[in-house]
Amino acid sequence: MAGVTLTGISKTYSQAGMPAINDLDLEIRDGQFVTLLGPSGCGKTTTLRLIAGYMAPDAGTIHADDRLISSKDTLVPPEHRGMGMVFQNYAVWPHKTVFENVVFGLRLRKVPSAKARERVEQALALVGLSGYERRLPNEISGGQQQRVALARSIVVEPQILLLDEPLSNLDAKLREHMRTELKQLQRRIGITFIYVTHDQAEALALSDQIAVIHEGRLQQFDSPREIYNRPINRTVADFMGNVNLLSGKVISADGAKGEILIADRLRVIAALPAGIERGAVVDVALRPENIELKRAETNANSSGKIVDHTFLGNISEYHIAVADRLLRVQTHPSVRIAVGDDVDISIAPETVNVFAQTETSR
Ligand code: ATP
Repeated sequence: MAGVTLTGISKTYSQAGMPAINDLDLEIRDGQFVTLLGPSGCGKTTTLRLIAGYMAPDAGTIHADDRLISSKDTLVPPEHRGMGMVFQNYAVWPHKTVFENVVFGLRLRKVPSAKARERVEQALALVGLSGYERRLPNEISGGQQQRVALARSIVVEPQILLLDEPLSNLDAKLREHMRTELKQLQRRIGITFIYVTHDQAEALALSDQIAVIHEGRLQQFDSPREIYNRPINRTVADFMGNVNLLSGKVISADGAKGEILIADRLRVIAALPAGIERGAVVDVALRPENIELKRAETNANSSGKIVDHTFLGNISEYHIAVADRLLRVQTHPSVRIAVGDDVDISIAPETVNVFAQTETSR
């Protein structure tokens, strides 16, 4: 069993001025599928490399269960951490068969050959490649090669598997398929997976918990549902899928709830963050799928006007002018409103997220 705890981890590369990772705390429990998610350059790979033991942090500690494995002065080498790693360019050896690729780690560990054969067969069965032992990498598909790389990592029975964008070299369809397979594999073998991606959909689909990282700092560590529905700040809301981020003014406040006026036109009721009072200017995050549209009887008090409509089969997408703002809305395809029509907009208060404005969001 193995969980990983990062406490106050910081790392600055000597060539760079800015820390790649800044005071990161993260508690990854045993058997969880945890994803490190964020835009390119936010520090995901650095975090994974620190966990793997390829380098030491400048400050902070990493524990595997209760064992200190990394600090400024302690660095348990990667091969003694009970961790396996799968990379983006999964690099199976082209001249070795599937069997030889997978058995490699066991030979290094001097596992007797009958036992090694049995474990390779088990690992190949787990990734759905039984019967492919004698094939060469160029005789199997890209997805199957990635599964060979997975089998090679799990055959040595790591307690934790670290995966750095392992699906990004696959085409979209295969990626989606492998996503399901990876999740099932993790459930079957029950070990901790720490997964790096910049793909929000992948993170939502795979993870028990997502750590959203931005500019080296942890923004939020939560379940996919919480991250999507209850982003902790504007940065997380903006990064997680489609969102309308609009500035609005609180026109009434009643305890934790308030009414916010957007573009002098659209009124939204929502829970207010602590300390926000009447008159405050706030950021409001509205998911396109949570906005309801109805054709307005007159344009006198309507909330907006349809300026664009795209039928996408399973959904319809509307762009709505709310005074000088543009709102993106997704509806069921049965909703049919014409471009140029005035609409009334309603939004369930529990789907709205409100953030105090910061210096950078203004
Ligand atoms: P990507 O999704 O593009 O792989 P990432 O989130 O994994 O990005 P990191 O690779 O951890 O980001 O990089 C974090 C920051 O550290 C970036 O600003 C990057 O330029 C810098 N960095 C990473 N590796 C090095 C290095 N070896 N030397 C100097 N700076 C580095």
